[in-house]
Amino acid sequence: MKLSKSYIPTLKEVPNDAIIPSHILMLRAGLVRMLSAGIYSFLPLGYKVIKKITQIIREEMDAIGGQEFHLPALNPKEIWEQTNRVEAFGDTMFHIKNRDYVLAPTHEEIMTYHAKGTLKSYKDLPQTWYQIQTKFRNEARPRSGVIRGRQFLMKDSYSFDSSWENLDASYSLHDKAYRKIFERCGLKFFVVGASSGAMGGNKSEEFMVKSDAGEDTVAYCEKCGYAANVEVAQSNIESVARNSESKEIYEISTPNIHSIDELCEFLKIHEQETAKSRVYMHNEKPVLVLMSGNDEVNETKLANALGGQVRPCHPDELKEITGADAGSIGPIGFSHRIIADLRLKDGNNLYSGANKNDFHIGGIDLKRDVPKIEYFDLRSICSGEKCTRCGNHLEVFKAIELGHIFKLGTKYSEALEANFLDEKGEAKPIIMGSYGIGVERVMACYIEQNFDEKGIIWSKLLSPFDLHLIGLNMKNEMIVSASNEIYEKLKAAGYDVLFDDRKDFSAGVKFNDADLLGIPIQIIVGEKNLKENKLEVKLRRTGEKFIIDRNQLEQKISEFQSMI
Ligand code: ATP
Ligand code: MG
Repeated sequence: MKLSKSYIPTLKEVPNDAIIPSHILMLRAGLVRMLSAGIYSFLPLGYKVIKKITQIIREEMDAIGGQEFHLPALNPKEIWEQTNRVEAFGDTMFHIKNRDYVLAPTHEEIMTYHAKGTLKSYKDLPQTWYQIQTKFRNEARPRSGVIRGRQFLMKDSYSFDSSWENLDASYSLHDKAYRKIFERCGLKFFVVGASSGAMGGNKSEEFMVKSDAGEDTVAYCEKCGYAANVEVAQSNIESVARNSESKEIYEISTPNIHSIDELCEFLKIHEQETAKSRVYMHNEKPVLVLMSGNDEVNETKLANALGGQVRPCHPDELKEITGADAGSIGPIGFSHRIIADLRLKDGNNLYSGANKNDFHIGGIDLKRDVPKIEYFDLRSICSGEKCTRCGNHLEVFKAIELGHIFKLGTKYSEALEANFLDEKGEAKPIIMGSYGIGVERVMACYIEQNFDEKGIIWSKLLSPFDLHLIGLNMKNEMIVSASNEIYEKLKAAGYDVLFDDRKDFSAGVKFNDADLLGIPIQIIVGEKNLKENKLEVKLRRTGEKFIIDRNQLEQKISEFQSMI
């Protein structure tokens, strides 16, 4: 493709609304343009990369026996009502006005609809069906460019099995295929066990990449590979030690002391001698949550421990319930339910609020003074704490979910009555799995992990073009004829070449554009080298430059290709 004839609208400036590197670079390199919040158009260069990614996904899905479908995005609402998912998706689902249709946010229902009555016998199973297709989700906060879009491409696959053991096998095939896909896409990823949330079913795992743009927070151990969402992650943190002698309870005047740090400073005590209180409303009834020192309550762990509706107490409610403001609350005299983090189990000689502004209480023995206390794992773990598996340090960071594999079980087959006859002739619901990959997220996450101050650094497999040929001074006849000849030769040899044949651009602009676009091998045709029958080759990732003989170009290119 000649650059002079192509539509690659690069931008010099960083667009205003883009904050994260992948979003900035996808706009600057002319890969995408925003149409509306969370809705992106892929321009020719960006779409080339999408095709490379989907090709890798197709090859690996086909390799595990997947058969490709293409289902409609416009779905009769009725089918979704049978699984109660119109309600479950709520505002996230797009509805078509005046018609009983929805735009599909995923395709469990429709695949199950097709399985029903056609996968009739255990002999028809297993099956793995997949598609690479557009999904619609009215995300409350579309952000980070294509990472959270309201319309996006998903590879979704569904396995249909006759037994739970066979589901294990289908799940494990997907796990292997996913690892291959993400490896071939050049991503550094890790796998986290997750709760299966609204999808229903049993085991599920998420494939994640570390990124500040992520909306999940995970704990990861580099040594043993332990990875867990902080909503469930645990660490080997020491419990609060129980002293052999319990002191008596006593009240202390603590004027203007509101935080744990201020209290420790004022009383010259250690953080671990304090118990911080937070009050939540659980199904509109107050619950006091006690945490050790500055430990933070993880609200998902709290919600899982309590079940039902949980929300923090408003300041005015707090005053009414306890008689005091935040910073002076404690378990002694609190007349509602009290729960505590496991780290505080049976702790004694603790300091906490007195439920009276400007006062604290010392000498608290949770066993003696709060007999009805219940303990749960409630704390958010922090970087540097020890891994429960191997004792190494855990790192806590933000991450983006690239893909998700679920053992769905029979939730959808039961709701839609997709049954098969087993060996004994008994009708049973088909046992299903569902597996998703966000295609645009693969692309954005790759860029998040492969860029420098000049632009994107594509790998050989994802790059929109194989080679970037730059004719430096295209007003010079010698350069024009040599670079045109090289262009034709490389094309004939099977390379996909982007040829910067623009006449009115300086060498500097051409080099900058080449680095911004990030094609891994640049071939530079300049006057000085050409006079000696030489060309310059630059590798985008390392910036290394080589002067090569013009007539050895093809041989050298294949050597360079093995280096990138
Ligand atoms: P998230 O927690 O990020 O919202 P999800 O759990 O809703 O993801 P799934 O329903 O499992 O995602 O969808 C499968 C894959 O589709 C995800 O792993 C992700 O890569 C991609 N995906 C989901 N929502 C979006 C979105 N709004 N924009 C782009 N990709 C998405
Ligand atoms: Mg979601």
